[in-house]
Amino acid sequence: MTAGQLDKPPLKIAPAGHPSANGPNGMVRKNGAAVDLAPVRSGEADGLRPETIAAQAGGAVDAATGAIVPPVHIATTFVRDADNQYRRGYCYGRSDNPTVRQVEHVLAELEGGAACLLLASGMAAATTTLLALERPAHVVAPREMYWGLRQWLTQDAPGHGLDVTFVASGDAPTLAEAIRPGHTRLVWVETPSNPTWAITDIAEAARRAHAAGALLAVDSTVPTPVLTRPLALGADIVVHSATKYLNGHSDVVAGALVFAGRQAACERAARLRSMQGAILGAFEAALLLRGLRTLHVRVRHQSGSAMAIARHFAGHPAVAGVLYPGLPSHPGHALAARQMQGGFGGMLSMRLSGGEAAAISGAARMRVWKRATSLGGVESLVEHRASIEGPGSPCPSDLLRFSVGLESVDDLIADIEQALPTGPSRR
Ligand code: PLP
Repeated sequence: MTAGQLDKPPLKIAPAGHPSANGPNGMVRKNGAAVDLAPVRSGEADGLRPETIAAQAGGAVDAATGAIVPPVHIATTFVRDADNQYRRGYCYGRSDNPTVRQVEHVLAELEGGAACLLLASGMAAATTTLLALERPAHVVAPREMYWGLRQWLTQDAPGHGLDVTFVASGDAPTLAEAIRPGHTRLVWVETPSNPTWAITDIAEAARRAHAAGALLAVDSTVPTPVLTRPLALGADIVVHSATKYLNGHSDVVAGALVFAGRQAACERAARLRSMQGAILGAFEAALLLRGLRTLHVRVRHQSGSAMAIARHFAGHPAVAGVLYPGLPSHPGHALAARQMQGGFGGMLSMRLSGGEAAAISGAARMRVWKRATSLGGVESLVEHRASIEGPGSPCPSDLLRFSVGLESVDDLIADIEQALPTGPSRR
């Protein structure tokens, strides 16, 4: 079956500005490659709320069988029509796939975007955004951000003609100073940002970026569309490591880009995805769609538990500081309260009074919290971030990062309590 056989067929919107390049069904053809932007129809326009769109996977009942869960399309190639067209909208699996497109449709709706692209990882999504920029390009990025991307921006980006200026996270005047009108093509924001959860004003960053002719991309992996919708605040591109909350079960590596419009950046990213073979696999897309169905309940529950944990350990003698934007003591609290809807997210960090040794030994004593990298799964994870980021990391060495899962919050608190140093002998 094709996407056209879903009982609510996605509405295909031709990308603006390239009508002559379009193939059937809004497919963009460039250099012989079929690059199909995600079909988007508006569930919200049907009066449906995001929870409904997510829980019902965008209305994906299979019209052929009545299956309430859409089939997984594993075909790598699709039949051409007798008159040499691809009217059903699919040509080759490296460019597009009906299962991938179904997830893109749901994510575009959740973010309020015009188009979505799924990629093989969050890093593939981020680097595709950057490599899709016209060169030479100046990029402004925060110093405090997902360390893997910071490394790529520092070590790899210059070789690709990208000149990067790093600024303090959440500091609008510094951001404004770093932007070079006419040269800066992209401003990158991550909010709340790893691992101190600094908050950046998305609307303000969008104003400053647009005034200089630049785009604003927001890594919204941590808040998810449940808590923040960057496009509604003026961002041009939302970036996700879908490996985290969107999938939510620590069993898929995936990335997503959602675009406010079908502007050049979107078309260039779609072409790059196709040319570099960075599309998400069909099985991973199907797992991601399953995860997305419970996104709202997971994120809200995890946010509630994170708030309870943050409050419990604020002022604890073994804890020098709790970093959580939901606490009034957090420098970004007032802005987060305005910008985030319905919670402050499931991520928090603690700086231990006993320093690095206390942090590492404390994590070692935890039993419910699993010592592992990553975040956003149903199981709670604890990580000594400086260890994984390595030399040169701006992450404080006394910091433990917590990704709050769906376990009993009492068990999570009790486990940290029993693990924290209680006296000099445990440090
Ligand atoms: N953005 C954030 C905020 C992340 O935490 C991560 C991974 O930890 C990434 C992007 C990269 O995502 P992936 O591991 O799916 O490539």
